[in-house]
Amino acid sequence: MAKELTLKAIGVVRSKITQPPQPDPEKVVSEIVIDSSLTEALDGLEEFSHLIVLYWMHQASAGQPPTKVHPMGKQEFPLVGLFVTRSPHRPNPIGVTTVRLLQRRGNILVVQGLDAFDGTPVIDIKPYIPGYDSVADARVPQWLTKAYGISQKLGDIYHQLIDRYGSQHWWPAEEPLEMIVGAILTQSAAWSNVEKAINNLKAARALSPKALRRLPLPEVATLIRPCGYYNAKALKLKSLAHWLGDCYKDDLDKLFATEVNDLRQQLLSVHGIGQETADSIILYGANKPIFVIDAYTRRIINRIGLAPETNSYTAYQTLFMHGLPTDSELFKEYHALLVCLAKNVCRSRPLCQQCCLNNICQSRR
Ligand code: SF4
Repeated sequence: MAKELTLKAIGVVRSKITQPPQPDPEKVVSEIVIDSSLTEALDGLEEFSHLIVLYWMHQASAGQPPTKVHPMGKQEFPLVGLFVTRSPHRPNPIGVTTVRLLQRRGNILVVQGLDAFDGTPVIDIKPYIPGYDSVADARVPQWLTKAYGISQKLGDIYHQLIDRYGSQHWWPAEEPLEMIVGAILTQSAAWSNVEKAINNLKAARALSPKALRRLPLPEVATLIRPCGYYNAKALKLKSLAHWLGDCYKDDLDKLFATEVNDLRQQLLSVHGIGQETADSIILYGANKPIFVIDAYTRRIINRIGLAPETNSYTAYQTLFMHGLPTDSELFKEYHALLVCLAKNVCRSRPLCQQCCLNNICQSRR
């Protein structure tokens, strides 16, 4: 058997996406620039709606790939042979994606849904032929059916929410400390009241770790009174301020540069910071991909019919972290959209007739 083959790139991918994480690949529009000497070879392709693109995943790590892997790198999936997965780390890092052809301009193909980065060499293009390229009775293992079903549904929820409500642009804060303070003050409080408390802190020049350490506890409590539980929350803010000074010399850039698991453990050690608050700080402050679970999220997921087997915070978080691409911007938007739905429609008494998810929800009335 020949040990080595020579492949020739026929073109290159031009995309705004240069490295992981990928946004939702189904929405990405990219160009495939085919070598101009092959322009004629594309004639007639524009009559097809979809193409199969083969490309060389040049960013895949070099070296000997493992022969057994957990699919998608997820430990909860069984250890299976490398060729049972779509892992990019394989002896020949060839990627295959079926894409929608939006336009052909000479030697340029404008396509949607190509999960390849900018600069990826393209090694072949084939027309997608229904009936030939899709198999009606294809069988897949149970772990894949389950994982794909959840991912598919989480994706559907996101797309329907963003189509209805648009981008939410969270978190509303002018600077990082304000974000962290807001995450603590919003515990059991409406955001409008948190804003009043933050404005009081700003007016008193108390929105800094140094000022929060210096001010007596009762004065901090008075300033944040509008957001409720003010004595307890004042103690939490002072604990946070002392911790920031002791461990980070008030340097939030250094705090946010901490590795995500380490950062989470450290935040959880601070008085008054629980899992939801810690994850909000990590996602919206440090811009690191971790999914925030709150009561609204649990309510919607339970009603839709995706509740995990246990009721723990971790179980809900795992559902999202494993079912979605690891992307902090996606996680931010998704969480904000769920809050928006819960406040407007999926309330304690849901308004299912107005809900954009009523076509996929098991509990619609
Ligand atoms: S259909 Fe009703 S119960 Fe289901 S998510 Fe929408 S509002 Fe909530």
